[in-house]
Amino acid sequence: MPRLVMKFGGTSVADLDRIRNVARHVEREVKAGYDVAVVVSAMAGKTNELVAWCREASMIHDAREYDAVVASGEQVTAGLLAIVLQSIGIPARSWQGWQIPIETSGAHGSARILGIDGSKISAHFEERREVAVVAGFQGVHAPTGRIATLGRGGSDTSAVALAAALEAERCDIYTDVDGVYTTDPRIVSKAKRLDKVSYEEMLEMASLGAKVLQVRSVELAMLYGVKTYVRSSFDDPTDPKPGTLICDEEDIVEQQTVTGIAYSKDEAQITLRRVADTPGVAASIFVPLADAAINVDMIIQVVSRDHATTDITFTVPAGDYARARTLLEELQPKIGYESLEGATDVVKVSAIGVGMRSHAGVAAKAFKALADKGVNIRAITTSEIKFSMLIDAAYTELAVRTLHSLYGLDAA
Ligand code: ASP
Ligand code: MG
Repeated sequence: MPRLVMKFGGTSVADLDRIRNVARHVEREVKAGYDVAVVVSAMAGKTNELVAWCREASMIHDAREYDAVVASGEQVTAGLLAIVLQSIGIPARSWQGWQIPIETSGAHGSARILGIDGSKISAHFEERREVAVVAGFQGVHAPTGRIATLGRGGSDTSAVALAAALEAERCDIYTDVDGVYTTDPRIVSKAKRLDKVSYEEMLEMASLGAKVLQVRSVELAMLYGVKTYVRSSFDDPTDPKPGTLICDEEDIVEQQTVTGIAYSKDEAQITLRRVADTPGVAASIFVPLADAAINVDMIIQVVSRDHATTDITFTVPAGDYARARTLLEELQPKIGYESLEGATDVVKVSAIGVGMRSHAGVAAKAFKALADKGVNIRAITTSEIKFSMLIDAAYTELAVRTLHSLYGLDAA
């Protein structure tokens, strides 16, 4: 029998009615002849509640016990969905990470999947045609036998990894939107659903702020060539819509230059004024930041006129801003800058598209369009298939809308 992995996010299993609706989606695929493994998230809001309880219990806590607590949300939904499936006559069994097992690293709270043994689930497929209902977001750290979780949004990664391990025909990720959009439909009403998007573009979109999929899940899908659909669980289970297929670039016939516009508010800017323009200065700033596990994204260093001093501007995640500032202030005598300026009311707007590889002037067009609207660009970075601009947060909507129509993405 061909195999299928179906993943349902928190809003899709938010209560028993929705879990019943999920069961009907599963029933459809079982009747179509698939052996099905379903991966479920915790009910909407549940993981946040569990995380908050851990913090309330003690602000500083053992990461292994954090995992013991937060992994419970998925266990509840896996069991409930198995009960509901059985009640409509579909053989089903729930599986926790350790029972499969899904082996992970020991980085509790943000563990990586090391391997999945699909043999037990496969045996249940073959012997009993039984649906496997798998608790997402969790696995087991084999040397200690302890539960480990995969980081927020990790059920997506559970699903794609399971699809690879079971050699499933597809991995269908059901969520509360009907696919991947050209940009956030809450900001741009003319945003369009994409029929197809390449792994690489999806990876950039996920990394640059589009929240549909966990970044790691897209990396895995790309690595193992897992055909992944993003689709809506709120569709009529008897008449589902296709959603968005994430696939190889070669499988997309009508490639646009720009496929999507993403934005991220999770940015903060730091500028060091009048830093000595001598070898080793960049290292004296960025090595300590790296040692403190602070991810630096955009970096601009101006060529100095007098060869004596220069300004360096860079961005860090908003959550690390205070820590980065304190660290650099402590290092001020060593680095030897004149002053430090920071801004948190900034946003990074990015345009993504594999077509950029073969077209010149794609970014230039954006700079002009934003200038015409009076939007000042604070920093720019580019790579082969994307460019990003840091702007004042107040202009987010204007900038996203402007770029969306500039690259012909507006729905008719
Ligand atoms: N329940 C976990 C979270 O909220 C994992 C997931 O839903 O993917 O992050
Ligand atoms: Mg999610």
